[in-house]
Amino acid sequence: MKHLPRVLIVEDEPAIAELIQVNLKHGGFTPVLAYDSVAAQRELDAELPDVILLDWMLPGQSGLSLARHWRKHERTKGIPILMLTARGDEPDKVAGLDAGADDYITKPFSTQELLARIRAVLRRRTPEESPGDRVTVGALVLDAATHRIAWKSQELKLGPTEFKLLHHLMKHPERVHSRASLLDKVWGDHVFIEERTVDVHVKRLREALGQAGAMVETVRGAGYRLTGGMAKTPAAAASPES
Ligand code: CA
Repeated sequence: MKHLPRVLIVEDEPAIAELIQVNLKHGGFTPVLAYDSVAAQRELDAELPDVILLDWMLPGQSGLSLARHWRKHERTKGIPILMLTARGDEPDKVAGLDAGADDYITKPFSTQELLARIRAVLRRRTPEESPGDRVTVGALVLDAATHRIAWKSQELKLGPTEFKLLHHLMKHPERVHSRASLLDKVWGDHVFIEERTVDVHVKRLREALGQAGAMVETVRGAGYRLTGGMAKTPAAAASPES
């Protein structure tokens, strides 16, 4: 299944928030709503979005100060932020960009404009996060720049976490990775995530990889390892073929 980019909408006016939610759903995104900074932080702690739509005027902590806050933190600093503002004032827009927003959009805006801006910030961010490297392990090829994975030239579809997980494993094949180290390297922060989460994503990764799933080995009591070469059956695992 294709990954629909997750968009966190931080907007206190329910009518606007819900309208954006509906439009994003139709536009091929997975919208998540938060009506204030507390709810927004809770959503971020649970799962990182691909983009944040951040209203400027919020009750309590303003959008501007939230943007500054998220930019300062390792876990959230790479997420594109698109500020929603009702103001047309140039100084405010500049302040928003200074605070770390990637772009801003002035209300009222059309759905087409909103979707175009979201796609634009996503495109701009992608090259930074994934330098154009191509990793090959056996018949498995991962291209970080195009976000594509192929097994024996056949394209595979992975979710975003599985993609990152596989990318990390492919960069360090044959090495055993503990669950804690995977959480650290792939999730970036494991304060809010249980180690069991790793098992869930490894299971999904194996399923998504199909035949190549056997390359992801469980190392009892230690963690996981991506083994090079061909997919092995447990019986054949004792005879190395490369
Ligand atoms: Ca508002």
